[in-house]
Amino acid sequence: VTDFAARARDITDRLEKARPLNAILSFDRDVLAVEADRLAKKSVGSLAGMSVAVKDNICTSEYPTTCASRILEGYRSPFEATAVRRLREAGALIACKANLDEFAMGSSTEWSAFGRVHHPLDASRVPGGSSGGSVALVAAGAVDAALGSETGGSVRQPAAFCGVVGIKPTYGRVSRYGLVAFGSSLDQIGPVGRTVADAGRVLAAIAGPDAFDSTCEENQDRLPLDIRPASLKGVRIGKPREYFPDTLDPGIRAACDRALNLMRDAGGTIVDVSLPSTPYAIPCYYVIAPAEASSNLARFDGARYGPRIGADAPDVQAMYRATRGMGFGPEVRRRIIIGTYVLSAGYYDAYYNRAREVRLQLIEDFTRVFQRDAHPVDVLFTPTTPTTAFKAGENTADPVAMYLADIFTCPANLAGVPAVSIPIGRAEGLPIGGQFIAASFKEEKMLGIAAALEAVVPATAEAR
Ligand code: GLN
Repeated sequence: VTDFAARARDITDRLEKARPLNAILSFDRDVLAVEADRLAKKSVGSLAGMSVAVKDNICTSEYPTTCASRILEGYRSPFEATAVRRLREAGALIACKANLDEFAMGSSTEWSAFGRVHHPLDASRVPGGSSGGSVALVAAGAVDAALGSETGGSVRQPAAFCGVVGIKPTYGRVSRYGLVAFGSSLDQIGPVGRTVADAGRVLAAIAGPDAFDSTCEENQDRLPLDIRPASLKGVRIGKPREYFPDTLDPGIRAACDRALNLMRDAGGTIVDVSLPSTPYAIPCYYVIAPAEASSNLARFDGARYGPRIGADAPDVQAMYRATRGMGFGPEVRRRIIIGTYVLSAGYYDAYYNRAREVRLQLIEDFTRVFQRDAHPVDVLFTPTTPTTAFKAGENTADPVAMYLADIFTCPANLAGVPAVSIPIGRAEGLPIGGQFIAASFKEEKMLGIAAALEAVVPATAEAR
């Protein structure tokens, strides 16, 4: 039996201690106390008493939903996201709303309009992004778990930087209802936890068909509440050569090699495979994601949501310009400009249609290794990121340098397949993430294999 009032006090204390990270955008101890009281009175579910932070691009009814943007400052959604409703039905306590890169665009949580999030182990570094607030709170022990969102790696990349577990579910596994749209054909809500079991339990609670999202798959298997380590005997683990370039950070390579050896010792077979379209994933992503973003962000115009700037402007166009010019930060403006350009009549074929073709090639790469090869693999194992957590300010002047942080994560989003990052070691004290990728809707298998590695890998030890 959980003492919910005591839990609410404990969560409040932990969140207060985590304040210096700047990971929290809204929190109210009275809301938490009321919620705890409500839970104490009814029967409890699979997440009973678990504290969960929610990325602030996911709608909640008790708190504002700002997307860390001036253009939504103070906005309160009239409805709650399906994933949040399911968390509460499973007995979780929604602890707070978490900081992010504005509209989830970024890889460091430095693009928040409300200030950057600090890495929990080294305040001079970034926690990764865009779900940096959600991940930092889990890594710091302020909450048990969190919801982030993924368009190109925004759960896995910060999870790798901070030494926790982050899952990108299959596209269509979790309802997007109430997730503020960035790239609608890529977006998924993803859980963060300190263990595969915790993140998997949250995933099981939020997954499943939803009448409010027609892209959420109706015929999906139910995920188990308890993920246990799978036996690796006879399991085929693909090692894609494109994810281990000569330029890979030596500490990350050493940690991946150690992980692969441990899985071989446990009975797994390591198979060299090739996903030849991988080098085109970043250019493809940075056409498709901004194209969809420019369309999705057209609704933020000062008429329908949030503050209106230039209310005394001479005409409505001038009001839109004033509101959008003041309301959006530099990275969001860059995405809108790129997206509008690649969708423009003269360039649509050259950029957007080409990117769609490349996307089909990326899908084909995964289909081949998971299904069509004579000896398909069960999962792929790769580094999650090409570097460990970088210093604040290191990549903000060069957008392309920032974009390259997602080089190993964005292929899974473009292909729609599930992936998970787990801690597999450290280099110079900083966490390293190892990534498993599986075929669509094979989360149960993927998480079982990830849990098997988790059980044997010295996650906080340097690898050499
Ligand atoms: N970093 C990538 C971007 O900036 C991915 C973001 C995300 O997954 N939301 O678009």
